[in-house]
Amino acid sequence: MTDSCDILVLGGGPAGSASATMLSDAGYKVVILEREKFPREHVGESLLPASIPILEQIGVMPEIERAGFVTKHGATLVWGADPEPWSWYFADDPGQRPTSFQVVRSEFDDILLKNASKHGVEVIEEAQVLDVIFENERATGAVYLHEGSEKQVSARFVVDASGQAALLSRKLGLLEWDTHFNNLAVYGYFKNARHLDSPNDGNIFIEAFEHGWLWKIPLHIGMDSVGAVVDKDVAHERLRELGSDGFLLKQIEDAPHVSELLESAELVGESKVVRDWSYKSTQFSGDGYILVGDAACFVDPLFSSGVHLALGSASLASTYVQTVLKDPSSRSQADQTYRDIYEKQYQYFHLTAQLFYGTNRTADSYFWEARRILGDDSKTPKEAFVKVVGGQPPQGYERAVIERGEVPDGILNDVKRMESYLEERKNTTERLTQDGGKELLESIPSLPNHIRLVQKPILSGQEYKQVSHLVVDGQDTLTHGYPLTAVMADLISRIDGGTILSDIIGQFESDHGVADKGAMNAVVLKTLPELITIGMIDVTAPGATRAERRRFERQLQKK
Ligand SMILES: Cc1cc2nc3c(=O)[nH]c(=O)nc-3n(C[C@H](O)[C@H](O)[C@H](O)COP(=O)(O)OP(=O)(O)OC[C@H]3O[C@@H](n4cnc5c(N)ncnc54)[C@H](O)[C@@H]3O)c2cc1C
Repeated sequence: MTDSCDILVLGGGPAGSASATMLSDAGYKVVILEREKFPREHVGESLLPASIPILEQIGVMPEIERAGFVTKHGATLVWGADPEPWSWYFADDPGQRPTSFQVVRSEFDDILLKNASKHGVEVIEEAQVLDVIFENERATGAVYLHEGSEKQVSARFVVDASGQAALLSRKLGLLEWDTHFNNLAVYGYFKNARHLDSPNDGNIFIEAFEHGWLWKIPLHIGMDSVGAVVDKDVAHERLRELGSDGFLLKQIEDAPHVSELLESAELVGESKVVRDWSYKSTQFSGDGYILVGDAACFVDPLFSSGVHLALGSASLASTYVQTVLKDPSSRSQADQTYRDIYEKQYQYFHLTAQLFYGTNRTADSYFWEARRILGDDSKTPKEAFVKVVGGQPPQGYERAVIERGEVPDGILNDVKRMESYLEERKNTTERLTQDGGKELLESIPSLPNHIRLVQKPILSGQEYKQVSHLVVDGQDTLTHGYPLTAVMADLISRIDGGTILSDIIGQFESDHGVADKGAMNAVVLKTLPELITIGMIDVTAPGATRAERRRFERQLQKK
């Protein structure tokens, strides 16, 4: 057993296994210290398709396919104004893989941890980390308990992937609890549960009821995971009265659709109670350490986002560690970049969950009322909506809220205004791009007053890079921004509101010695129409009537 390594990973869940695998693949000597003996149980079985490319990257997909996990096409919900179940599908988003999996976490996490071993990581199970060692404020290793004795391992870098134990965040006093989501979850496994009809039989089923919401996830082992998410204060009181099994069965009784699906089902083993309080660390990395997965932040499980955030942050963290080990002077930039990118993902799920909680009007109870009031107090539903959909048409979860939730009028009006605005811009763009974009090339582009060209960091291959983005003034630049290629950024920086597009392209071509004139036009005609449609770029088209121009300006001001 080693007493020194390049990278020490605390915890062997999805975040720990994935980051360790990637770093080992990059040539570092990596050790994982994991408290449990795997396979170990874990809540959180429903995965998102966005994780699949990361699972492919660490080479684990063949095994995942072989495990025979249930294929998940989307979600079926009883939520919002409609008392009947409704479904949405990953395939509705063309940029997304169409399916994901419902996994048994003990099996899934074990596959990932064994895969880390296969990739050269030294995995030490039943090794409980007692403390992280700091020397001159830099993390340099850990003390852990293994086979009855305390041991020490030193490292050039420490990755905290300890999940909700959040070892470093707690030690350094960085953890901040979220006032919006502090619930309790009580869950268990049922045999003989009825499934939804095809094509929804692999979907997660979510039902809002008086005291919160329930999930039902079909698993390949012939059982379903069923859990109730309820307000912590109400739950504490009733748990004392009913015990966890009694409490879970009572919540199921109160949810007619889940009840019906579980009519002939039977709880296998004991139910469990887990804390479901969202939190975020005030810092995601520091001298010699980085936090990944739940060790950095946790968001309410309504959208099954936890494992995806764990894997996504693992991938970012692997790049971070390589960057700062190679060039320690890049740390402050890497800190910022890691936090920006991870937080953007986190915020998306956080805001969408806030929106969902705030727009459920089916049950008039403490649970829903408390969450609505919280939403209203901080003016969040509207802010959340604007932040989530940004400059693009709402889709997926947000779309579902709008179509199925009882959305407050203010939000609904915003949606309608935004959609008609986009529709109108789209029609104009289509007109301008007819005949090989002749009219567009002869128009004068301008940057609306509320749009800025800024540099924002993105992850590119194994590097963090500064990339130009167009962002809307007043919007959170963390969660928004339209990334541009270097060529488009250069072209857009030349827009002065008075020069026609073909002349701007001409200037670019002569400055960069571009001989093939047609090639530049093709690049511009590919990207610019989308930017015009979403209102990031304005054009005064030679063919536009005065009324059309005024209407554009008015809509822009409203936006
Ligand atoms: C009620 C509920 C429902 C959820 N449902 C879903 C869902 O459907 N889909 C989804 O994607 N996510 C869901 N999640 C979230 C998901 O479970 C987590 O986000 C995910 O497991 C995070 O992965 P991780 O690797 O960061 O942490 P974990 O998976 O928790 O792994 C952390 C590891 O660190 C180890 N560890 C802890 N302390 C120590 C120590 N001192 N020494 C050594 N090792 C240590 C632990 O044993 C553990 O193996 C849910 C969460 C809750 C609470």
